[in-house]
Amino acid sequence: MKTAAIVLAAGKGSRMKSDARKQYMMLRGQPVVCYSLAVFEKCEQIDEIILVCGRGEEAMCREQIAEKYHYNKIKRIVPGGKERYHSVYEGLKAAGPDCGTVLIHDGARPLLDEAMVCRLLEAVKENGACVAGMPVKDTIKRSGDDGYAAETLPREQLWMIQTPQVFDYPLIFSAHQELIKRNDLPVQITDDAMVLEYMTGQKVKLVEGSYRNIKITTPEDLLIAEALLGDLFH
Ligand code: C5P
Repeated sequence: MKTAAIVLAAGKGSRMKSDARKQYMMLRGQPVVCYSLAVFEKCEQIDEIILVCGRGEEAMCREQIAEKYHYNKIKRIVPGGKERYHSVYEGLKAAGPDCGTVLIHDGARPLLDEAMVCRLLEAVKENGACVAGMPVKDTIKRSGDDGYAAETLPREQLWMIQTPQVFDYPLIFSAHQELIKRNDLPVQITDDAMVLEYMTGQKVKLVEGSYRNIKITTPEDLLIAEALLGDLFH
C-alpha cells in the first residue's frame, strides 16, 4: 500500500491583506508551496504527492510548479473546495483506495523538515492517527463576548497544532465521507484531527513538530520565514 502526501494550496488567504495567495508568494526566490513539495519529493517514504489547488489553477500548478521544479512525485493536481476540509476530501478521493497511509500538509507551511515527517510516519504505525504540534509558549486566555478575559487555560496542557497530520487512509477517508454528509456542524473544523475527534472515537497522538514550522498567514510571517530560511542556509 502506498503512502501519499496531500499538499493543500486552495486557500484564499484573506488574512494576508494581499491579492497574491500566500502559498504562491515568493520566498527566497521560490513559491512558498515549493518548500514542502521539495521535502516530500526527497523523502523516500513518500510514494506520491497530490496537490490541491484553487479551481482553475490546475494548469498553472502543473506548468509553473510541478514541471518547472521537476516534482515527479506529483501524480494528481485537483481543485479544492470551500472550506479546508472540503479540499482535504478532494485530496483523499484523488489518493485512491490503494493508499495505506496519508499525510496531509498545509502548503502554507514551508518550514517542515524530513525528520519531522519520519517521526510522524513512525508514530502513525502504532496509533493510526498523529499530528505535529508544539507546546504553547504564551499564556492562552479565552475571551468572553464582552472583550474581557473569561478564563485562563492551563498552559501545561496546551499545544499549538501544525501539519503534517498523518493517518491510516481508510480511517480518515471514512470520517470525511461522514462529515461531508452533515450540514449541522457545531464547530468550525480547522484541522484533520478534529474530523476524527467529531466523527469517530479515535485518539490522535501528538508528535513533536518544530517551532520553526510556522504557517504563512499574515504579512509578517513571510519575514519570519525568510529569516528562518536564512539561518538554515548558513
Ligand atoms: O486557512 P488556513 O490558514 O487554515 O489554511 C491552511 C491551509 O489549507 C493552506 O495551505 C490553504 O491553502 C489550505 N486551504 C485549502 N482549501 C481551503 C482553505 C484552506 O486548501 N478551502
